[in-house]
Amino acid sequence: MNQIDRLRGSTPAKRHNARTIAALTGNPGCSRRAVLDAAGVDKVALASRVGFPGSFGQSRFALARGNAFEAMLKADDCALLRSVLDVGMIGYHDLGADSDDTLGARHGRTRELLASSVSGLIDHPLLTLELAGRTVFLEPDLIAFQGEGRLRVVEIKSFAIVDGQADAAAVSSAAVQAAVYVLALRALLGEDRVSHEVVLVCPENFSLQPVAVVLDVRKQLATLRRQLSRLSSVSALIEALPESVSFDLALPPSALVSSLAALAARYAPECLSFCEMSVYCRSEASGSTAAFGRSVRESLGGIEEVSVALDLARGLVEPSSEQAEAAALLRQAARLRAEALG
Ligand code: SF4
Repeated sequence: MNQIDRLRGSTPAKRHNARTIAALTGNPGCSRRAVLDAAGVDKVALASRVGFPGSFGQSRFALARGNAFEAMLKADDCALLRSVLDVGMIGYHDLGADSDDTLGARHGRTRELLASSVSGLIDHPLLTLELAGRTVFLEPDLIAFQGEGRLRVVEIKSFAIVDGQADAAAVSSAAVQAAVYVLALRALLGEDRVSHEVVLVCPENFSLQPVAVVLDVRKQLATLRRQLSRLSSVSALIEALPESVSFDLALPPSALVSSLAALAARYAPECLSFCEMSVYCRSEASGSTAAFGRSVRESLGGIEEVSVALDLARGLVEPSSEQAEAAALLRQAARLRAEALG
């Protein structure tokens, strides 16, 4: 058993998907997350086992709305989708239709079709990406063949575009997920055959009428590449961990907490929106200035604890030379606050 598998113990490895790979770009400086992800630890189960369950994933209502929207677009061999994408009468290939639908078989059919000169829309394709030595299967909503031979990824999302505007966080996460598919396609076919422009199809305004928006994901591709290569180098970090560190979910919670303490975390409030460990890490970080986020961490550089920041603001302790600048700002802020309240 290698060190990565030993770290996870008897618990089966958690399978990645585009959503979890996209989340890897959320806090690239966090070693804890990098190690847990590289080892395939089930973070939802781990957080729950140590007493800090969170609620992750889409609500049932959002899932049902998303499924209904996708089914409507794909009905009658993607008739409505073709009109939104403005691709005319190109072919339609459903790779999920065969009865031998093992992951390997479907991936094989996808490779075959992509390598051939057949053109059209590919539904239920299955791609792969190598992640820290493991093969991850990915299911894009659709791949569209372009007339000039370049492929485009089509992402169907159920969040609305109202008056040409959509929730920035939702668009940004859809762009990173689509970039994961572009990366997987490029690994298979080469850079030139896959466009860096992806098509996002969403409901428009307050109806289920679809609208297509083209997104350039070059920036997301660069971030993903950086983060994925960092994940591979995490094995060195894992090799250096003591034998006692294990995330086997059969262990008592106290042992799992000790193992978590061996991995340096970098909690920031944004973690709450993408990381399954966030409720645990927030509790662990309480009392530290870092828990207030990057801007506070940077403004209070050199002051790690909230209690020290408060003592400096009240003039109860002498600042060290690295703390002098932040201490002056804290005293001024305390004076202004006292004036405002007084
Ligand atoms: S919640 Fe914890 S493990 Fe996850 S990214 Fe933030 S600090 Fe790292």
